[in-house]
Amino acid sequence: MVVAETNKPHVAVLSSPGMGHIIPLLELAKCLVIDHGIHVSFLNITTEASTAQIQLLHSPTLPLGLDVIDIPAVDISALVSDDTPIVARLSVNVEESLKPLKSILIELGKPQALLIDLFCTQAFDVCKELSIPSYTFFTPSTSFLAFCLYLPTLDREVECEFIDLPEPVQVPGCSPVRTEDLLDQVRNRKIDEYKWFLFHISRLPMSDGILLNSWEDFEPTSHEAIRKHLFYKQIPTPPVFPAGPLIKHDNPELDDECLAWLDKQPLNSVLFVALGSGGTLSAAQLTELAWGLELSQQRFLLVARKPTDASASATFFNVGEDINVNDPKAYLPDGFLKRTKEVGLVVPTWAPQVSVLQHPSTGAFLSHCGWNSTLESMTHGVPMIAWPLYAEQRMNATMLVEEVGVAVKPVGIPGKGVVDREEIERLVRLVLEGEEGNVMRRQARELKVSAVKALEFGGSSHQSLSSVIKEWKIENEISV
Ligand code: UDP
Repeated sequence: MVVAETNKPHVAVLSSPGMGHIIPLLELAKCLVIDHGIHVSFLNITTEASTAQIQLLHSPTLPLGLDVIDIPAVDISALVSDDTPIVARLSVNVEESLKPLKSILIELGKPQALLIDLFCTQAFDVCKELSIPSYTFFTPSTSFLAFCLYLPTLDREVECEFIDLPEPVQVPGCSPVRTEDLLDQVRNRKIDEYKWFLFHISRLPMSDGILLNSWEDFEPTSHEAIRKHLFYKQIPTPPVFPAGPLIKHDNPELDDECLAWLDKQPLNSVLFVALGSGGTLSAAQLTELAWGLELSQQRFLLVARKPTDASASATFFNVGEDINVNDPKAYLPDGFLKRTKEVGLVVPTWAPQVSVLQHPSTGAFLSHCGWNSTLESMTHGVPMIAWPLYAEQRMNATMLVEEVGVAVKPVGIPGKGVVDREEIERLVRLVLEGEEGNVMRRQARELKVSAVKALEFGGSSHQSLSSVIKEWKIENEISV
């Protein structure tokens, strides 16, 4: 194990498994090392090997001063089954993996702070024992944080299932959440998935502070509510530090195919279709999507995954694994690849999403609205077709369509019934060709500018992150 350099403040960052968590936590770690002169130990909870995850965490481009420490893998096969949903599975894995956390932190020389991801709240107890300040890096949206802070109250006050409530959930100071948008984890209060979710959420106030991957101008109402509304003051809510948008930067040298193809396409002409690390479609839905793309006659870049009717998040823990055996010809409609070869590119499993969004030929993004994908799209000024599938993505999608005005949603709910080819054709044309698409693009570009401002020296996110880092620096001076 690498021991911290004594002249620099040393913090540890702990992520739960899954690319949607590891990517933002790693970005935060890089930002602390590169922009703020901190030494970071990144504690990685290892799971079934995911190719994309291994490449990310063991990339030669990680900066000096960022040490990735793999916590030894645990065997949880006796504790979960193939049907165990994401959060329950994650939480069991984290609980077992964190058994040596105390000795790891001691061996690291007791860092000035531990920054954890939402599903690692068991670490709070260890930190308390060792007197190490602990912070949560909340990777989803600020409006979702407000919902989460309200959930324990809702749980006490409501007896029925939340999805049976006659009215939307009134999150204090924020937009109401329609019951059909509620995340999967709170749709059945009797199962472990809900209990684990509530367990972690209820422990959020134990943090010494909550860092957010968002910025004030993107979600002004929720930021204001959490800071000023009496409800959050009474919890009491720990200090909140918007630090985003922190997004990853791909190494374009690792990919020739997508970027070389994009280089040959006209400006703003391509629809990028990717459903995050876990997103998978049913066979019937994938067929309709392919037909919709073809009928639209627009250009597209499709990240294709083998369809499954079992789960909309089927590749969450192992994305990239099937890269050598995934053959889109086997599951896309007969002749699709041939008929669309002049306008489309299909890549199996994984694409360099950020480089694609950054490319001037990319005109719109059909996305599952995971929070990282949302931030990546906004920071590159790209409007979206919102195709939420699991977790809190339906809430994100509604916010992007109804509050921010940068996305359109299909009629019908993706994942519940099939969205047909005509509807997909309509949306693709609308976002790439229509005036509505241009309006959304202008709005997304304004957000891009505001994101840059938030992150630059003296910007709202830069200032807020600097203020929490100051606390660790002072702590370091005391202990050196
Ligand atoms: N991603 C990527 N290539 C792909 C699919 C996803 O690089 O083909 C990255 C994407 O850029 C984002 C992350 O994987 O950073 C997905 O995170 P998000 O929060 O959007 O969704 P999740 O995977 O957690 O559902």
